[in-house]
Amino acid sequence: MRGVTVVICFIIFSLSVVGQPLEETISVKPNPGEGIWSFLRRHDLAPQEHLERFRLLNEGKFAPDGGLYVHHHYIIPIVSTRWVEPLFGKDHQDLRLLDEELKGAVFYLVSGHGGPDPGAIGKYGDHLLYEDEYAYDITLRLAKNLMQKGAKVHVIVQDPHNGIRSGAILTPDENERVMGQVIPLDQIQRLKQRSDAINNLFRQENSDYQRCIEIHLDSRSRTHQLDVFFYYHQHSRSGKQMAETLRKTFEENYRRHQPNRGFSGTVTHRNLYMLRNTRPVAVFVELGNIMNFRDQQRFVVESNRQALANWLTAGIVEDYKNHQNNK
Ligand SMILES: [Zn+2]
Repeated sequence: MRGVTVVICFIIFSLSVVGQPLEETISVKPNPGEGIWSFLRRHDLAPQEHLERFRLLNEGKFAPDGGLYVHHHYIIPIVSTRWVEPLFGKDHQDLRLLDEELKGAVFYLVSGHGGPDPGAIGKYGDHLLYEDEYAYDITLRLAKNLMQKGAKVHVIVQDPHNGIRSGAILTPDENERVMGQVIPLDQIQRLKQRSDAINNLFRQENSDYQRCIEIHLDSRSRTHQLDVFFYYHQHSRSGKQMAETLRKTFEENYRRHQPNRGFSGTVTHRNLYMLRNTRPVAVFVELGNIMNFRDQQRFVVESNRQALANWLTAGIVEDYKNHQNNK
C-alpha cells in the first residue's frame, strides 16, 4: 500500500446498532511539506467530510499552525464498503455498500409479534403459516437492503437463531428477543417493551430523518383477499407522506409485474399503540392476509418475500429524497 505501514486496525461495533459499517484505520506518514487537505486527498478521503474525524483521531499531533509533522504517523479512517452482519444468517451475512442513497437516514424496523406471540396463523395445505416468522424474514431482507444503501438500521426484534431463510415453510419458534430481552406475553407489556426500546435509541440519535417501520401480515377471513395496508398516526404529516409514498411504489410495481391484478392497497390513520407511543415518525404496514390462498403466495415464495422488501426499500428511498428536497 504505497509503502504505508499498517499499524492498527480497530473495530467499533455496538450490539444494538447493526447498520454501521466497521471503522478501520491505518497509520501513515505525510510527505514533506504536505498539508492536511492534500494528505487526506492522497488517501482518497474527501477533506470536507473527514477533516473533523481526522483531527479527533490525531489530537495533540498537530503543529501550532495546525499543520502536519513530517516525522509523525497519523491515523486515518479507511472507508470500508464490505462488512459482515451475522444477524442475517450464514448465506446472507456478507454486506456490501451498493450506493449511498440512504446515507444519514436512521431506521427502526419492528417485525410484528414474536417470542411467545406468533401473531396470526394461516392454514396452507397441511402446514401452518405463522405471521411472526414471515414478518421477521421480510424485515431482515428490508434491513439488509437499507444498510447496503448506507442507512443506519436498528433491528428491534431479533432472533439469534434464524437469519434470512429460504424455502416456503418457515418453522416457528419462540426465540425472538427485543434488544436481548425476553418478550412478555401480555400484549401491552409486549408493545411497551418495543416502544421503550425504540425511544431509548431515538434519544441517542440525531439524524433529522428517522423512521420507524412496523411490519405485519395479519389476517382476515379466508375468502377475503387483503391488499397492502399502510397506517400512520393521525397527527403525523411525515408519517402520512411516507405511507402514501410506499403505497404509490407498491401500486407502480404491481402495475409493472402483474398488470392484470389491480391494486387496492390503502393509506389510513389508525390509533395503534405503536404509532401513538413511538417517538420517531412511524408507519405500520400490513402486507397481506395470511389466511387467503392468493395472498399466501406472497409469503411462501421466497422471491416474493424479497420483492416485498425491495418495494418497501424503493418507497423508502423515494420518501428520503422527498424529505431532502423539502429541507
Ligand atoms: Zn400482526
